[in-house]
Amino acid sequence: MAVEQLKDGHGRTINYLRLAVTDRCNLRCFYCMPEKGIRFLSRKELMTYEEMLKLLSIFKSMGVDKMRITGGEPFARKDILYFLKKVKNEIRPSSFSITSNATVLDEYLDELPALFESMNISLDSLDRQRFFEITRKDVFPKVIDNINAILNTGIDVKINAVIMSDKNIQDIVPMVQWTREKNMDVRFIEEMPFNGTRGSDKISTWNYKDILSHIKTNIGSYETLPNPPSSTSMMYRIPGYVGRFGIIPAFSRTFCGSCNRLRLTPKGEMRTCLYSTQGTDLLTPLREGVSDDALRQIITAAVMNKEKDGYEAAKKRSFIPIYESMTTIGG
Ligand code: SAM
Ligand code: SF4
Repeated sequence: MAVEQLKDGHGRTINYLRLAVTDRCNLRCFYCMPEKGIRFLSRKELMTYEEMLKLLSIFKSMGVDKMRITGGEPFARKDILYFLKKVKNEIRPSSFSITSNATVLDEYLDELPALFESMNISLDSLDRQRFFEITRKDVFPKVIDNINAILNTGIDVKINAVIMSDKNIQDIVPMVQWTREKNMDVRFIEEMPFNGTRGSDKISTWNYKDILSHIKTNIGSYETLPNPPSSTSMMYRIPGYVGRFGIIPAFSRTFCGSCNRLRLTPKGEMRTCLYSTQGTDLLTPLREGVSDDALRQIITAAVMNKEKDGYEAAKKRSFIPIYESMTTIGG
């Protein structure tokens, strides 16, 4: 039976889902979550792997066949390998990837190549002390070893670095230079206000233009590379370098017009925009035993109302002083 492709009310094809499998993490990146006082989901609130697989199969039946696993830290959830293998072999997305902080990847090196062609790894500094100040954990050497080990497996690595004007501007040049010999992407992300504490007034003042001009001034000219439609990153290469660098204007939101994505939080709430505060609860109807068709109808109706862009979504949240942590939304 032909799959009827899910579309939103703006005529965009929606074919990409990011699933956060947990809200817990072994790091405490200050731009993502507070150090203490976080109320994590209870086991009952959290979707089970079987519930996640059920929802993924429903999304797949609606043409949403690109899937990324995120969190929190996905490898912090117990038995994650069991779940990843099920998604890969039973749901069989056309594209399957994961975002990780790389802290414990050494435990999974033998299994990862069969699961992923490409992985996103978050690393905001090449300096041990700054890494510690940002993540509040002193595990930089292990993360670097794990990144090198992943590169050796042949998996494509995309490094994501959140760039913050008061914290790690000094890392931009060394990170671009890292791609001189290494065949990988380093992508600089504008900081967003999703840290579970502060409002948008305190976040980084550097945007994608500042980052690009910093690179031009300090390294030199770069070539602009073609980007696939609906890509969130703009990619570049320094002539002669093996790898590439990119910018993700997550706060400037220049890419929203071609958005093709949905998010599913660890408690089974579907979000149609990163900047929206309200989601659609899919777990309660699933636990109540509604039919697959009823779930598809709930999803279709919510997707029809998908926000035009992150600015439209943010307008609705302007009176909310505390921004959610990225770990509850799924980055
Ligand atoms: N723990 C994993 C990791 O760090 O890669 C996956 C989850 S994390 C929430 C996913 C991505 O969101 C990471 O690349 C992280 O840097 C990014 N992120 C988290 N909070 C952010 C913020 N306030 N602004 C921009 N990016 C953020
Ligand atoms: Fe954890 Fe990733 Fe958030 Fe850092 S960005 S605290 S690694 S979930």
